[in-house]
Amino acid sequence: MPPAKSLFDKVWDAHAVRELPGGQTQLFIGLHLIHEVTSPQAFAMLRDMKLRVRFPRLTFATVDHIIPTESQRRPFQDSLAEEMLVHLERNCREHGIRFFDAASGRQGIVHVIGPELGLTQPGMTVACGDSHTSTHGAFGAVAFGIGTSQVRDVLATQCLALDRPRVRRIEVGGKLGGGVYAKDVILHIIRRLGVNGGVGFAYEYAGPVIEAFSMEERLTLCNMTIEGGARVGYVNPDDITYAWLRGREYAPQGAAFERALAWWRAIASDADARYDDVVRLEGRDIQPTVTWGINPGQACGVSEPIPRLADVPAQARPQVAEALAFMGLVGGAPIAGTKIDVAFIGSCTNGRISDLREAARVARAGRVPARVRALVVPGSQAVARQAEAEGLPEVFRAAGFDWREPGCSMCLAMNPDKLVGREVCASSSNRNFKGRQGSPTGRTLLMSPAMVAAAALRGEVVDVREIL
Ligand code: SF4
Repeated sequence: MPPAKSLFDKVWDAHAVRELPGGQTQLFIGLHLIHEVTSPQAFAMLRDMKLRVRFPRLTFATVDHIIPTESQRRPFQDSLAEEMLVHLERNCREHGIRFFDAASGRQGIVHVIGPELGLTQPGMTVACGDSHTSTHGAFGAVAFGIGTSQVRDVLATQCLALDRPRVRRIEVGGKLGGGVYAKDVILHIIRRLGVNGGVGFAYEYAGPVIEAFSMEERLTLCNMTIEGGARVGYVNPDDITYAWLRGREYAPQGAAFERALAWWRAIASDADARYDDVVRLEGRDIQPTVTWGINPGQACGVSEPIPRLADVPAQARPQVAEALAFMGLVGGAPIAGTKIDVAFIGSCTNGRISDLREAARVARAGRVPARVRALVVPGSQAVARQAEAEGLPEVFRAAGFDWREPGCSMCLAMNPDKLVGREVCASSSNRNFKGRQGSPTGRTLLMSPAMVAAAALRGEVVDVREIL
């Protein structure tokens, strides 16, 4: 009998080309996703070295970070954004790479379109020049973000030199209460284990709560793995995974799908696989969760108070003090009732159709006050089309939200969607770092899309369960 293994070990071993003298593994990359921000320099380096893309059919491109969401007419008003897109178009053309541009009907945030096109599949290695590539682990892939020089390496060789991480299994038992979502689960995990708790680990998510998640919920969960310090996070593939993939454009078709299914089933973790660490959490302990600080681990349940300095360990006090000062919040005060100026629903964490459906369910219950700017930005053109077919833009508009074109929008604000001054934003995105949403003094409160919609209606942080 071969030794029992985790999915991570099976996928890693299946893609290992060789062990390198320094102890790293040369790993073959099955799917390479690129976008306009981290690829231009990589292509320039390739050109300087007079190299071609080694496997153009394994690389796919989209435009997401810089694309405006009000009007996507070319040329863009921002000449730098236009130039970045022109570079991407030229690089894809020159190297024979498939580019999902706005005219393709398949454009969107890279971590939204990969799964929806069926490009991301179980047992793959996936790399992209973007930290939130961990998203694709929802399918039982080993997926991680890479830097620009590594984008060059994958373009040139389809391989990367990597250190092998250890594997931590995180089990979430029981079930979630109403109004508690995958976003709350991952914020809870990061809060418990810390933003650096996963450094050197790949996270395997498991347990009844995770296994009951839809694919879109698993995508949200895996998306924020990197915010907990782990580069890789995955869920073992199961019937929910296979049902999602069947019939998708780039998934295997017909008999090839049945053959793939046998491999996908085989790569799931063995029941008696051993892990370097196991963490157990309970679904009933998780409530709608909101960040109060300047990293995603600085979070509390919506019914809890913001921590007081005296309540945190001495070594954490300087960071907590810095966060409270920046956010203008007071330790011991409730997070509920914190006033907001902006509400943002979108991003690769929570810009999918199920996110928009939940937010619309809340939006039906009221109207955004005039002083709050509220944006809904679908994660892709396909999400936008589906939302339009279901009449969701009308629901949002009737409640006072602005319905936009697909893109990263205010998640990173490399486009015209930005906070102004010290605005406070209730956001369904994944990072609340200082300056993340376009204003150096802008403040971000991370929460689920339903919680964002609720905050938009009330003009302050509120427990969505009061509305649902
Ligand atoms: S939505 Fe945000 S986190 Fe996701 S790819 Fe775009 S900028 Fe990065």
